[in-house]
Amino acid sequence: MKTCKFTSLSVLILSLVCTWSVRAQHQRETERCQVKTLENSNYFENWLQTRTFKTAINTTDIYKIPIVVHVLHLGEPEGEGFNLPKEQIEAQIRILNEDFRRKEGTPGFNTHPDGGDARIEFILARTSPDGKATDGIVRIDMNQLENPEKFPSSFNFYGQYSYWDPEQYLNVWTLPDWPAETLLGMATGPVTDLPGGDRFEVSDPVDGILINAPYFGPSDIDSNYNRGRTLTHEIGHFLGLLHIWGATGCDKDDYCEDTPPQNKSHSVCPATPPLACDGRPAMIENYMNYTPDGCMNIFTKDQISRMHTVLENSPRRKSLTTSPGLEAPVTGIPDVVASAIKVFPNPVADHLNIDFGENQVLNKVSISCYTSLGKKIFTNHYDKISKRITLKMPFTAEKVLFLQLRSESLVVNRKLVLR
Ligand SMILES: [Zn+2]
Repeated sequence: MKTCKFTSLSVLILSLVCTWSVRAQHQRETERCQVKTLENSNYFENWLQTRTFKTAINTTDIYKIPIVVHVLHLGEPEGEGFNLPKEQIEAQIRILNEDFRRKEGTPGFNTHPDGGDARIEFILARTSPDGKATDGIVRIDMNQLENPEKFPSSFNFYGQYSYWDPEQYLNVWTLPDWPAETLLGMATGPVTDLPGGDRFEVSDPVDGILINAPYFGPSDIDSNYNRGRTLTHEIGHFLGLLHIWGATGCDKDDYCEDTPPQNKSHSVCPATPPLACDGRPAMIENYMNYTPDGCMNIFTKDQISRMHTVLENSPRRKSLTTSPGLEAPVTGIPDVVASAIKVFPNPVADHLNIDFGENQVLNKVSISCYTSLGKKIFTNHYDKISKRITLKMPFTAEKVLFLQLRSESLVVNRKLVLR
């Protein structure tokens, strides 16, 4: 079996080496990806006992998700070969936002009546797990590691080298030397009660997405998968979408009424689409099909509803949308210790006290409250505060709010339960 090795993203080398692999993939209709779920891990056992699902809300709120890209390379200088240039990584994020926001004037736009704006946006993480500023990119020289195995299709394998808190970050690893004719990408699925959630494969505890490096971001490689839609597709799985053909056979569903049922995947995009099982045109342009990147441009409204339900309910998904990784860290010398700040009572009814301690003074302070979706309820500004302030809580139907206190020198986040 041939593998796809390359030392730079030049057209010449990839044309010579990768083309065979990708065409072979077409002929054999090799899995474009695999999806796995975390349902059997210990982490989720307790959560599964207490879960209470609610349906997706229908608002104009935007869900924002911070991504960390772990670039695994073979010792190339930054920007060459598997050590992907920052511009390519940023371009991949741009493509995600074009696709998930159905942005006009981009390849992610469509006029299909069943298509929609998923209202999900992605940014490269701005704050690392240890509170420092970051560009959301971690570069790992696999040659410097002690005896790394040949690159397997295992999330645990990559997680041992670089892995950020999956409650706060969507972890993406770009893989060197992954057999190009085998897979373009893999994703873990969410824990969800949505129909078809049990179709996700059982997996190990590391959560995230693996992308075969040549297919990450836009590139000039000679491939049908060179426009960055591999990650769009994998994030669809990560947020609870099945392939639109469900599984082989017309009776296998993806549980989305507005994706015509297919009995198999499609790998080409003819001008006249083949017919689906029910006589409608097959949705060859759907991101959850296996068609070339160039003709993909649609998530349907039902698919979007599934993703929103996951973002509203699922562990390691819901928490991403309020991650500290979305904001830049505060710089400066702390003038007060965050742990010294007391917020009470909690649960809270009408009034909330914030106690800063006897000798603590904070300058240029803002205090904000957000919903679990990140929608701001209010912000109060203070030039200087000390000792204690009391806030009148707003009337809201929310059960939980997130309080954020920002000063010149620190940020404090607290979760409030409302009575
Ligand atoms: Zn897939």
